[in-house]
Amino acid sequence: MSNKQLKITVRGTGIVGVWQAFVLASKGFSVTLTCNTKEPFKEASSWIAGAMLAPFCETESAEPVIRRLGLSSLPLWQEAFPHISRNGTLVVAQPRDTSELQRFARQTSAHEFIDEAKIGELEPDLAGQFRTALFYPDEAHLQPHWALSYLLQKACEAGVETKFGTSERPDDSDYIIDCRGIAARDELPDLRGVRGEMAIIRTSEISFSRPIRLLHPRFPLYMVPWPDNHFMIGATVIESDDQGPVCVRSGLELLGSAYGLHSAFGEAQIIKLSANVRPSFPDNIPKIIVRNKTLYVNGLYRHGFLTSPALAHLVADYLHEGKTDEGIFVVEH
Ligand SMILES: Cc1cc2nc3c(=O)[nH]c(=O)nc-3n(C[C@H](O)[C@H](O)[C@H](O)COP(=O)(O)OP(=O)(O)OC[C@H]3O[C@@H](n4cnc5c(N)ncnc54)[C@H](O)[C@@H]3O)c2cc1C
Repeated sequence: MSNKQLKITVRGTGIVGVWQAFVLASKGFSVTLTCNTKEPFKEASSWIAGAMLAPFCETESAEPVIRRLGLSSLPLWQEAFPHISRNGTLVVAQPRDTSELQRFARQTSAHEFIDEAKIGELEPDLAGQFRTALFYPDEAHLQPHWALSYLLQKACEAGVETKFGTSERPDDSDYIIDCRGIAARDELPDLRGVRGEMAIIRTSEISFSRPIRLLHPRFPLYMVPWPDNHFMIGATVIESDDQGPVCVRSGLELLGSAYGLHSAFGEAQIIKLSANVRPSFPDNIPKIIVRNKTLYVNGLYRHGFLTSPALAHLVADYLHEGKTDEGIFVVEH
Protein backbone atom coordinates (compact mmCIF):
# COMPACT_ATOMS: atom_id res chain seq x y z
CA MET A 1 0.00 0.00 0.00
CA SER A 2 1.36 3.49 -0.76
CA ASN A 3 1.67 6.02 2.04
CA LYS A 4 -1.34 7.99 0.78
CA GLN A 5 -3.64 5.01 1.10
CA LEU A 6 -2.65 4.29 4.71
CA LYS A 7 -5.05 6.05 7.07
CA ILE A 8 -3.37 7.12 10.27
CA THR A 9 -4.90 8.65 13.37
CA VAL A 10 -2.57 10.45 15.74
CA ARG A 11 -4.14 10.81 19.20
CA GLY A 12 -2.93 13.75 21.29
CA THR A 13 -1.66 17.24 20.49
CA GLY A 14 1.32 17.51 22.84
CA ILE A 15 4.74 17.93 21.33
CA VAL A 16 4.86 14.22 20.46
CA GLY A 17 1.52 14.24 18.61
CA VAL A 18 2.13 17.41 16.60
CA TRP A 19 5.54 16.20 15.47
CA GLN A 20 4.10 12.80 14.50
CA ALA A 21 1.25 14.37 12.54
CA PHE A 22 3.53 16.85 10.77
CA VAL A 23 6.18 14.28 9.76
CA LEU A 24 3.73 11.56 8.69
CA ALA A 25 1.64 13.98 6.60
CA SER A 26 4.81 15.42 5.03
CA LYS A 27 5.75 11.90 4.00
CA GLY A 28 2.43 11.41 2.25
CA PHE A 29 0.36 9.48 4.80
CA SER A 30 -3.29 10.40 5.22
CA VAL A 31 -3.34 11.74 8.78
CA THR A 32 -6.07 12.73 11.23
CA LEU A 33 -4.98 14.38 14.49
CA THR A 34 -7.34 14.14 17.46
CA CYS A 35 -7.40 15.74 20.88
CA ASN A 36 -9.70 15.22 23.86
CA THR A 37 -10.01 18.96 24.47
CA LYS A 38 -11.51 21.52 22.08
CA GLU A 39 -8.47 23.77 22.56
CA PRO A 40 -5.64 21.55 21.46
CA PHE A 41 -2.93 22.30 24.08
CA LYS A 42 -5.12 22.89 27.12
CA GLU A 43 -4.14 19.75 29.05
CA ALA A 44 -0.79 19.06 27.41
CA SER A 45 2.21 18.79 29.68
CA SER A 46 4.13 20.20 26.70
CA TRP A 47 2.45 23.59 27.19
CA ILE A 48 4.37 24.27 30.40
CA ALA A 49 7.78 22.93 29.31
CA GLY A 50 10.96 24.99 29.27
CA ALA A 51 11.60 23.64 25.76
CA MET A 52 15.35 23.51 26.15
CA LEU A 53 17.02 21.37 23.52
CA ALA A 54 19.93 20.29 25.67
CA PRO A 55 21.34 16.92 24.55
CA PHE A 56 24.62 17.45 26.41
CA CYS A 57 23.46 18.95 29.71
CA GLU A 58 20.72 16.35 30.02
CA THR A 59 23.23 13.47 30.01
CA GLU A 60 24.08 14.51 33.55
CA SER A 61 21.14 12.33 34.57
CA ALA A 62 19.93 10.69 31.33
CA GLU A 63 21.06 7.64 29.37
CA PRO A 64 23.24 8.12 26.23
CA VAL A 65 20.23 7.26 24.02
CA ILE A 66 18.73 10.65 24.94
CA ARG A 67 21.79 12.44 23.60
CA ARG A 68 21.61 10.35 20.40
CA LEU A 69 17.91 11.16 19.83
CA GLY A 70 18.50 14.79 20.80
CA LEU A 71 21.37 15.22 18.36
CA SER A 72 19.23 13.76 15.56
CA SER A 73 16.40 16.08 16.51
CA LEU A 74 18.30 19.38 16.54
CA PRO A 75 18.64 19.71 12.73
CA LEU A 76 15.01 18.61 12.33
CA TRP A 77 13.91 21.39 14.65
CA GLN A 78 16.04 23.86 12.79
CA GLU A 79 14.53 22.84 9.47
CA ALA A 80 10.92 22.91 10.69
CA PHE A 81 10.87 25.86 13.08
CA PRO A 82 12.68 29.07 12.09
CA HIS A 83 12.39 30.66 15.55
CA ILE A 84 14.73 28.30 17.36
CA SER A 85 17.56 30.01 19.31
CA ARG A 86 20.89 28.26 18.96
CA ASN A 87 22.93 30.22 21.50
CA GLY A 88 23.98 27.32 23.71
CA THR A 89 23.52 26.89 27.45
CA LEU A 90 25.39 28.48 30.35
CA VAL A 91 25.78 26.49 33.59
CA VAL A 92 26.76 28.39 36.72
CA ALA A 93 27.12 27.71 40.45
CA GLN A 94 27.63 29.88 43.50
CA PRO A 95 31.27 29.79 44.77
CA ARG A 96 30.29 27.42 47.64
CA ASP A 97 28.93 24.95 45.06
CA THR A 98 31.96 24.89 42.75
CA SER A 99 32.28 21.12 43.26
CA GLU A 100 28.84 20.81 41.62
CA LEU A 101 30.24 22.47 38.51
CA GLN A 102 33.16 20.01 38.44
CA ARG A 103 30.77 17.08 38.84
CA PHE A 104 28.45 18.38 36.10
CA ALA A 105 31.44 18.79 33.76
CA ARG A 106 32.58 15.20 34.39
CA GLN A 107 29.10 13.80 33.67
CA THR A 108 28.52 15.74 30.44
CA SER A 109 30.43 16.57 27.25
CA ALA A 110 30.81 19.21 24.51
CA HIS A 111 31.41 22.04 26.98
CA GLU A 112 34.14 24.47 27.89
CA PHE A 113 35.00 26.12 31.20
CA ILE A 114 34.84 29.88 30.79
CA ASP A 115 36.03 32.68 33.08
CA GLU A 116 34.38 35.78 34.46
CA ALA A 117 35.25 37.91 31.45
CA LYS A 118 33.77 35.43 28.96
CA ILE A 119 30.63 35.04 31.10
CA GLY A 120 30.17 38.82 30.91
CA GLU A 121 30.71 38.74 27.16
CA LEU A 122 28.05 36.05 26.65
CA GLU A 123 25.58 37.36 29.21
CA PRO A 124 26.31 41.01 30.11
CA ASP A 125 23.69 40.94 32.89
CA LEU A 126 25.65 38.21 34.68
CA ALA A 127 28.95 40.14 34.53
CA GLY A 128 30.76 39.99 37.85
CA GLN A 129 28.29 37.48 39.36
CA PHE A 130 30.22 34.23 38.78
CA ARG A 131 33.95 33.49 38.53
CA THR A 132 33.60 30.46 36.31
CA ALA A 133 30.90 28.67 34.30
CA LEU A 134 30.40 25.85 31.83
CA PHE A 135 29.36 26.78 28.33
CA TYR A 136 27.64 24.30 25.96
CA PRO A 137 27.75 26.12 22.61
CA ASP A 138 25.80 23.52 20.61
CA GLU A 139 22.54 23.53 22.56
CA ALA A 140 19.33 25.39 21.73
CA HIS A 141 15.97 26.48 23.11
CA LEU A 142 12.59 27.70 21.90
CA GLN A 143 9.27 29.04 23.15
CA PRO A 144 6.97 26.02 23.54
CA HIS A 145 3.63 27.79 22.87
CA TRP A 146 4.97 29.26 19.70
CA ALA A 147 6.54 25.97 18.58
CA LEU A 148 3.39 23.90 19.27
CA SER A 149 1.10 26.33 17.42
CA TYR A 150 3.53 26.67 14.54
CA LEU A 151 3.94 22.89 14.10
CA LEU A 152 0.20 22.34 14.28
CA GLN A 153 -0.26 24.87 11.51
CA LYS A 154 2.50 23.24 9.44
CA ALA A 155 0.84 19.86 9.97
CA CYS A 156 -2.47 21.26 8.69
CA GLU A 157 -0.72 22.78 5.68
CA ALA A 158 0.80 19.34 5.00
CA GLY A 159 -2.76 17.93 4.82
CA VAL A 160 -3.52 16.81 8.39
CA GLU A 161 -7.21 16.79 9.27
CA THR A 162 -7.97 17.77 12.86
CA LYS A 163 -10.72 16.54 15.18
CA PHE A 164 -10.59 18.31 18.53
CA GLY A 165 -12.88 17.72 21.48
CA THR A 166 -13.05 13.95 21.06
CA SER A 167 -11.58 11.23 23.29
CA GLU A 168 -12.77 8.35 21.10
CA ARG A 169 -10.41 5.67 19.91
CA PRO A 170 -11.00 5.59 16.13
CA ASP A 171 -11.85 2.25 14.55
CA ASP A 172 -11.50 3.12 10.87
CA SER A 173 -7.73 3.74 10.75
CA ASP A 174 -5.01 1.46 9.43
CA TYR A 175 -2.74 2.61 12.25
CA ILE A 176 -3.22 4.59 15.44
CA ILE A 177 -0.28 6.56 16.75
CA ASP A 178 -1.13 7.00 20.42
CA CYS A 179 0.50 10.16 21.82
CA ARG A 180 -1.85 10.78 24.72
CA GLY A 181 0.94 11.33 27.26
CA ILE A 182 -0.07 10.36 30.79
CA ALA A 183 -3.67 9.64 29.66
CA ALA A 184 -2.37 6.50 27.92
CA ARG A 185 -1.82 4.91 31.32
CA ASP A 186 -5.16 3.12 30.81
CA GLU A 187 -3.37 0.98 28.17
CA LEU A 188 0.25 1.33 29.36
CA PRO A 189 0.25 0.46 33.07
CA ASP A 190 4.05 1.05 33.41
CA LEU A 191 3.59 4.73 32.67
CA ARG A 192 3.94 7.08 35.67
CA GLY A 193 3.75 10.84 36.14
CA VAL A 194 6.71 12.88 37.33
CA ARG A 195 5.43 16.20 38.53
CA GLY A 196 7.05 19.40 37.28
CA GLU A 197 6.29 22.89 38.58
CA MET A 198 7.38 26.11 36.89
CA ALA A 199 6.98 29.88 37.00
CA ILE A 200 6.84 32.51 34.29
CA ILE A 201 8.04 35.98 35.24
CA ARG A 202 8.51 39.18 33.30
CA THR A 203 11.05 41.95 33.65
CA SER A 204 12.77 44.36 31.30
CA GLU A 205 15.63 44.88 33.81
CA ILE A 206 17.51 41.79 32.66
CA SER A 207 17.97 39.95 29.42
CA PHE A 208 19.60 36.61 28.67
CA SER A 209 20.39 35.08 25.29
CA ARG A 210 20.38 31.47 26.37
CA PRO A 211 19.11 29.19 29.17
CA ILE A 212 21.04 29.59 32.41
CA ARG A 213 21.28 26.56 34.69
CA LEU A 214 22.11 27.28 38.32
CA LEU A 215 23.53 24.18 39.98
CA HIS A 216 22.69 23.50 43.60
CA PRO A 217 23.04 20.24 45.55
CA ARG A 218 19.39 20.33 46.67
CA PHE A 219 17.50 22.57 44.27
CA PRO A 220 19.03 23.01 40.80
CA LEU A 221 17.19 25.58 38.69
CA TYR A 222 17.14 26.80 35.15
CA MET A 223 15.87 29.98 33.53
CA VAL A 224 14.89 30.04 29.88
CA PRO A 225 14.59 33.44 28.20
CA TRP A 226 11.38 33.76 26.21
CA PRO A 227 10.35 36.61 23.91
CA ASP A 228 8.91 39.88 25.29
CA ASN A 229 11.00 39.94 28.47
CA HIS A 230 9.51 36.70 29.80
CA PHE A 231 11.54 34.06 31.65
CA MET A 232 10.49 30.52 32.39
CA ILE A 233 11.87 29.26 35.71
CA GLY A 234 11.92 25.50 36.11
CA ALA A 235 11.46 23.02 37.37
CA THR A 236 10.70 20.64 40.19
CA VAL A 237 11.07 16.90 39.56
CA ILE A 238 8.77 15.11 41.99
CA GLU A 239 7.70 11.46 41.94
CA SER A 240 4.00 12.18 41.95
CA ASP A 241 0.98 12.00 39.64
CA ASP A 242 -0.51 15.12 41.22
CA GLN A 243 -1.50 17.61 38.50
CA GLY A 244 -2.77 20.18 41.00
CA PRO A 245 -1.50 23.76 41.37
CA VAL A 246 2.04 24.67 42.44
CA CYS A 247 2.63 24.30 46.19
CA VAL A 248 3.94 27.16 48.32
CA ARG A 249 7.34 25.56 49.01
CA SER A 250 8.06 24.94 45.31
CA GLY A 251 6.86 28.43 44.39
CA LEU A 252 9.15 29.96 47.02
CA GLU A 253 12.11 27.87 45.88
CA LEU A 254 11.63 28.65 42.18
CA LEU A 255 11.21 32.38 42.74
CA GLY A 256 13.86 32.51 45.48
CA SER A 257 16.43 30.82 43.25
CA ALA A 258 15.72 33.30 40.45
CA TYR A 259 16.32 36.12 42.94
CA GLY A 260 19.52 34.33 44.00
CA LEU A 261 20.68 34.27 40.38
CA HIS A 262 20.20 38.01 40.05
CA SER A 263 18.66 40.40 42.57
CA ALA A 264 16.96 42.37 39.76
CA PHE A 265 14.53 39.43 39.43
CA GLY A 266 13.12 40.67 42.75
CA GLU A 267 11.23 43.36 40.83
CA ALA A 268 9.96 41.00 38.10
CA GLN A 269 6.21 40.38 37.73
CA ILE A 270 4.90 36.88 38.32
CA ILE A 271 2.88 35.98 35.24
CA LYS A 272 2.01 32.39 36.00
CA LEU A 273 2.75 29.41 38.21
CA SER A 274 1.90 26.07 36.59
CA ALA A 275 2.29 22.35 37.19
CA ASN A 276 1.76 19.18 35.19
CA VAL A 277 3.26 15.69 35.01
CA ARG A 278 5.90 14.33 32.67
CA PRO A 279 4.80 10.97 31.21
CA SER A 280 7.60 8.54 32.12
CA PHE A 281 8.47 4.84 31.98
CA PRO A 282 10.44 3.23 34.83
CA ASP A 283 13.81 3.80 33.05
CA ASN A 284 12.88 7.35 31.95
CA ILE A 285 13.61 6.43 28.31
CA PRO A 286 11.01 7.07 25.58
CA LYS A 287 9.48 4.06 23.88
CA ILE A 288 7.64 3.26 20.68
CA ILE A 289 5.48 0.29 21.63
CA VAL A 290 3.95 -1.59 18.71
CA ARG A 291 0.79 -3.44 19.74
CA ASN A 292 -1.09 -4.76 16.73
CA LYS A 293 -1.98 -1.67 14.68
CA THR A 294 -1.33 0.80 17.47
CA LEU A 295 2.03 2.50 18.01
CA TYR A 296 2.35 4.14 21.42
CA VAL A 297 4.92 6.94 21.46
CA ASN A 298 5.31 7.81 25.08
CA GLY A 299 7.49 8.16 28.19
CA LEU A 300 9.37 11.23 27.01
CA TYR A 301 9.88 12.30 30.63
CA ARG A 302 12.05 15.48 30.65
CA HIS A 303 12.89 15.18 26.97
CA GLY A 304 9.71 15.72 24.95
CA PHE A 305 10.99 18.71 22.99
CA LEU A 306 14.46 17.29 22.76
CA THR A 307 13.52 13.94 21.24
CA SER A 308 10.08 14.22 19.52
CA PRO A 309 11.38 15.01 15.99
CA ALA A 310 13.67 11.95 15.94
CA LEU A 311 10.88 9.71 17.28
CA ALA A 312 8.50 10.94 14.57
CA HIS A 313 11.00 9.92 11.91
CA LEU A 314 11.49 6.51 13.56
CA VAL A 315 7.72 5.93 13.39
CA ALA A 316 7.67 6.96 9.73
CA ASP A 317 10.53 4.52 8.99
CA TYR A 318 8.64 1.74 10.74
CA LEU A 319 5.47 2.39 8.73
CA HIS A 320 7.47 2.58 5.50
CA GLU A 321 9.79 -0.36 5.80
CA GLY A 322 9.15 -2.06 9.15
CA LYS A 323 12.47 -0.71 10.44
CA THR A 324 12.89 -0.68 14.24
CA ASP A 325 15.47 1.07 16.39
CA GLU A 326 16.98 -1.03 19.15
CA GLY A 327 16.45 0.44 22.57
CA ILE A 328 13.39 2.47 21.54
CA PHE A 329 11.01 -0.01 19.92
CA VAL A 330 9.10 -2.65 21.84
CA VAL A 331 7.27 -4.87 19.34
CA GLU A 332 4.66 -6.88 21.17
CA HIS A 333 3.09 -8.96 18.43
C1 LIG B 1 7.90 21.96 34.00
C2 LIG B 1 8.37 21.12 32.83
C3 LIG B 1 9.49 21.52 32.12
C4 LIG B 1 9.93 20.77 31.02
N1 LIG B 1 11.01 21.20 30.30
C5 LIG B 1 11.42 20.50 29.21
C6 LIG B 1 12.50 20.97 28.42
O1 LIG B 1 13.11 22.01 28.71
N2 LIG B 1 12.87 20.23 27.32
C7 LIG B 1 12.23 19.08 26.97
O2 LIG B 1 12.63 18.45 25.97
N3 LIG B 1 11.20 18.61 27.72
C8 LIG B 1 10.79 19.28 28.82
N4 LIG B 1 9.74 18.82 29.59
C9 LIG B 1 9.16 17.51 29.27
C10 LIG B 1 8.11 17.61 28.19
O3 LIG B 1 7.22 18.65 28.49
C11 LIG B 1 7.38 16.26 28.10
O4 LIG B 1 8.30 15.25 27.81
C12 LIG B 1 6.33 16.35 26.98
O5 LIG B 1 5.43 17.38 27.27
C13 LIG B 1 5.57 15.06 26.78
O6 LIG B 1 4.76 15.30 25.65
P1 LIG B 1 3.53 14.37 25.22
O7 LIG B 1 3.11 14.89 23.89
O8 LIG B 1 3.91 12.94 25.39
O9 LIG B 1 2.42 14.64 26.33
P2 LIG B 1 1.43 15.89 26.51
O10 LIG B 1 2.12 17.15 26.17
O11 LIG B 1 0.87 15.77 27.88
O12 LIG B 1 0.31 15.67 25.42
C14 LIG B 1 -0.68 14.67 25.54
C15 LIG B 1 -1.86 15.10 24.70
O13 LIG B 1 -2.83 14.05 24.64
C16 LIG B 1 -4.11 14.63 24.75
N5 LIG B 1 -5.06 13.56 25.10
C17 LIG B 1 -5.32 13.02 26.32
N6 LIG B 1 -6.29 12.08 26.20
C18 LIG B 1 -6.66 12.02 24.89
C19 LIG B 1 -7.61 11.24 24.14
N7 LIG B 1 -8.38 10.32 24.72
N8 LIG B 1 -7.70 11.47 22.80
C20 LIG B 1 -6.93 12.41 22.18
N9 LIG B 1 -6.01 13.16 22.86
C21 LIG B 1 -5.88 12.97 24.19
C22 LIG B 1 -3.91 15.73 25.77
O14 LIG B 1 -4.95 16.69 25.75
C23 LIG B 1 -2.59 16.31 25.26
O15 LIG B 1 -2.83 17.22 24.20
C24 LIG B 1 9.27 19.55 30.68
C25 LIG B 1 8.13 19.16 31.39
C26 LIG B 1 7.68 19.93 32.46
C27 LIG B 1 6.46 19.49 33.20
